Amino acid sequence: MDCIFCQIVDGKIPADIVYQDEDVIVFRDINPVAPTHLLIIPKKHISSLAHLPDAEIPLIGHMVKIANQLAREGGVAESGYRLVINSGEQGGQLVPHLHMHLLSGRRLSDAIG
Ligand code: 5GP
Ligand code: ZN
Repeated sequence: MDCIFCQIVDGKIPADIVYQDEDVIVFRDINPVAPTHLLIIPKKHISSLAHLPDAEIPLIGHMVKIANQLAREGGVAESGYRLVINSGEQGGQLVPHLHMHLLSGRRLSDAIG
């Protein structure tokens, strides 16, 4: 498996990991577009939102829970933050392993696409 995010999960590629549990791992984006830019990913390889089995939907809720927790800990729960999941080529997904971006620390663009 040459998936770059699976290699981060397996510790084969270094990453600045800020949180992990049995199901998810969170690390800093290598090319941040906001003062805080975290990637929340499932440890299990799921290639995109479009390939998420219905049975795995609770995983997304867990990822949102962790994002909210990290936003609170980062002191941005009230000032604001953005969660983004890109899916597929036209959705802007570059890494084919499901991930949620957590962006915060500046006024983000009003545009969403
Ligand atoms: P996407 O466009 O697929 O939604 O976002 C992929 C994100 O992964 C990009 O923001 C990119 O900077 C980040 N990224 C790609 N490769 C690596 C890597 O090896 N390490 C880390 N920490 N982030 C990566
Ligand atoms: Zn993977």
